[in-house]
Amino acid sequence: MDSEDRMEMTQLEFGRCRSWPHSQDYCITCGLCSSACPVSGVDGFDPRKMIRMISFGLDDDLVVSRWPWICTMCGKCEHVCPMEIHIADAVRNVRSLRPRADVPGVLHKGLEAALDTGNNLRLPREDFIFILEDVAEELAEEEGYGDFKVPIDKKGARLLTTIHNKLVNTHTDDLKHWWKIFHAAQEDWTVASENWEGTSWGYFTGDNEAMKVMAGRIIEQMERLEIDTLLWPE
Ligand code: SF4
Ligand code: SF4
Repeated sequence: MDSEDRMEMTQLEFGRCRSWPHSQDYCITCGLCSSACPVSGVDGFDPRKMIRMISFGLDDDLVVSRWPWICTMCGKCEHVCPMEIHIADAVRNVRSLRPRADVPGVLHKGLEAALDTGNNLRLPREDFIFILEDVAEELAEEEGYGDFKVPIDKKGARLLTTIHNKLVNTHTDDLKHWWKIFHAAQEDWTVASENWEGTSWGYFTGDNEAMKVMAGRIIEQMERLEIDTLLWPE
């Protein structure tokens, strides 16, 4: 029996949410994941309890509960788990089992917008460029950055970076932090004017097909701009 057969059999035998090869059944209930989790305690959420629920076959209760949507999928729990259980993977599996119309509103709308327009803000290309150039002008006013220009769609650059949507919305100063690092490193970088969104709304909603579409669009930008190195900070 190969590993794929084993995985299928495990899923059939024990439930729909488990991650493989580090089965939830290996959990020793040490609670290290709960201690490390930044949202442990929010509405009673506890990764240790969640893993036990999966182990006991209580998938359906988890699918309808709010718990999987409280998790930020940061992975801190996995980092400390002595049994190397893929906790964030399990969360994503649980999310994928919820009917799409029942995915929490903000995530559902964000994914729809990202699939429709390439970013969850529905920000048109010209507005995106305007914001980046405006922030670049601000940076150029700072000492040591007088010649700074933001390299948008620079063909043949060494590095393509994606951008988190909040950086062109509420946290534009964070753009400057990234750009200062590139400037100090004398990096040859660029950002694509379309499909620049680094946040995978497909990943967060447990929608594998959407995740493929969004990742594919980033690859298309790399091919269009003839770049072979990607910085995907999200
Ligand atoms: S850290 Fe791992 S073994 Fe410990 S309770 Fe959490 S899932 Fe179980
Ligand atoms: S991945 Fe989820 S469960 Fe794990 S530490 Fe982060 S928020 Fe908590």
